[in-house]
Amino acid sequence: MLNLILFGPPGSGKGTQAENLVNHYGLTHISTGDLFRFEMGNDTPLGLKAKEYISKGELVPDEVTIGMLQNKVNSTPEAKGFIFDGFPRTIAQAEALDVFLNEKETTIHILVALDVDDDEIVKRLLNRGLTSGRADDNDEDIIRNRIKVYNAETAQVFDYYGKVDKSVKVEGVGSIEEIFNRLKTEIDKVSA
Ligand code: ADP
Repeated sequence: MLNLILFGPPGSGKGTQAENLVNHYGLTHISTGDLFRFEMGNDTPLGLKAKEYISKGELVPDEVTIGMLQNKVNSTPEAKGFIFDGFPRTIAQAEALDVFLNEKETTIHILVALDVDDDEIVKRLLNRGLTSGRADDNDEDIIRNRIKVYNAETAQVFDYYGKVDKSVKVEGVGSIEEIFNRLKTEIDKVSA
């Protein structure tokens, strides 16, 4: 099994690169953002709950997010490994993920972080908002709040896996292919 965390601020290109990584490594992609959008689109109780937070650029509470993630992993027993995208976003989520994977006798092999500066991110997200239909991409205040939450709560997850030498930073500016090659170089070091 190969389990990796695709990490980085909102708009750093995780979704784009996840697609390339799925094709290359045959892993199962789990994006908590996509899962929440699916639930919101269907007006499920989970979706309605998530919307309260997402519309303000805040994090959905850990217990909601962790439960949803575990259900998704458990529903894909045939997976060769997972790309976790947008999860874990807090230390509590990281701890829960470690326990959960441990119970399945597996682990996180690497966290790869896409490094992109704040100004570039705001530009990209506003641009994505023109076509994505995502309300959280259309408003600069919400975007700034997401970046603030990332720096306050999520960035620490990099150090959490750094303590066990699993975190790697990759330059997130360049062509999609260049960035993909940088990611592959790092992932191949742990999966070879
Ligand atoms: P982004 O493009 O900002 O990286 P995502 O598509 O990954 O965003 O997620 C959109 C929103 O869904 C986040 O701003 C957050 O409110 C919520 N969300 C996604 N993943 C998580 C998580 N692991 N924990 C809490 N909230 C989450």
